[in-house]
Amino acid sequence: MRHVTRYRAYPGHAVERQLFNGFARCSFVRNWCLENRVYRDSCLPKLKEEYPELKEVHSKVLQNVVQQIVHNLRALKKLKATGRKVGKLRKKWVHSMIYEQTGFKLVGNRLWLSRIGEFQIELSRPVPGKIKQIVVKHTAAHKWFVAIISETPDTPELTTGTRSVGIDLNLENFSTDTDGTVFEHPHNVSKSAKRLRRAQKKFSRAVNGSRNRRKQRIRVARIHEQVENRRNDFLHKWSRYYVDHYDFIALEHLNIKPMVESLESKLRGMSKSILDAAWYKAREFICYKAANAGTYVHLIDPAYTTQDCFICGHREKKDLSQRVHCCPVCGYTAPRDLNAAQNILKRASVGWGTPESTLVEIGTATPPIPAVQVPVNEARISRR
Ligand SMILES: [Zn+2]
Repeated sequence: MRHVTRYRAYPGHAVERQLFNGFARCSFVRNWCLENRVYRDSCLPKLKEEYPELKEVHSKVLQNVVQQIVHNLRALKKLKATGRKVGKLRKKWVHSMIYEQTGFKLVGNRLWLSRIGEFQIELSRPVPGKIKQIVVKHTAAHKWFVAIISETPDTPELTTGTRSVGIDLNLENFSTDTDGTVFEHPHNVSKSAKRLRRAQKKFSRAVNGSRNRRKQRIRVARIHEQVENRRNDFLHKWSRYYVDHYDFIALEHLNIKPMVESLESKLRGMSKSILDAAWYKAREFICYKAANAGTYVHLIDPAYTTQDCFICGHREKKDLSQRVHCCPVCGYTAPRDLNAAQNILKRASVGWGTPESTLVEIGTATPPIPAVQVPVNEARISRR
């Protein structure tokens, strides 16, 4: 099993300088490769002869820079194959270094990196298993982090339980599930988003090149990080809740909510892109947590989940203002998002519209029709 643990790091001035120097060399290699369209690490020895300063960086780190480009190009190609519009890989400044297999040593809370030196990390919890990779990263808010990727020999056992749930990610709340549990959008995120807007305005007004502008830039970056941390914190708790409480989780594999809804999200001070990112992350988190816990996640085709009737399958277009699903054919009445969640679970269970048939028999996978309608408001989960 793979583990990723992230720690705050506190390099001294000398080590910091070495790290920035390393970033500069990595950036040089990355941009050289992109410019000359060389995507093989066999170019490195020759490059080092030409630019001897590259020897200041651990060789495996530079190899990793090239491998990263290959990896990114492959990802772009894959995206392109699905019909998405993709740009080119751009030249950029690198803010992290990857040590793989060799060139590092962790003793207590002191981390030693080859060609860099030794510095302290805040070992808030022990590293599980054997260390495979170390990533040193510098953020825009001028903080250092070390991510340690380690492996333990155990493999998660697949669950035999039958607790199943369908989750609808939507705009009115963050999510609604088939059991009527509702997670609201995290308030603290929109709160700091407001602060962010104010700081950004101040930043754009500051005179170019001034000391004030530099200070303001770090301030903006700090709030950015805070927003990110708060959102991640929420998403980790959210995904943990579902992975702990259920054995089979059904989700849409992407959100294609109509434009009206995205207009509404603007009124809430959240742009569609931010929500998209949050939804994407939500799925990522739930998938990796489920994989570690041995529970099943099934991603289904999102088409018509809000329009179809859960009971009889009648399809009818709904306005955004129509918060309740009321079927004209069979009379089934339920909150709009609950009906969507039920459709999601139904689809996952019967295998309709599934991207892959990687499934899975689950005893009571078809959702039981709730005997008593849970008014969605009553089932709200309170988080502080
Ligand atoms: Zn119906």
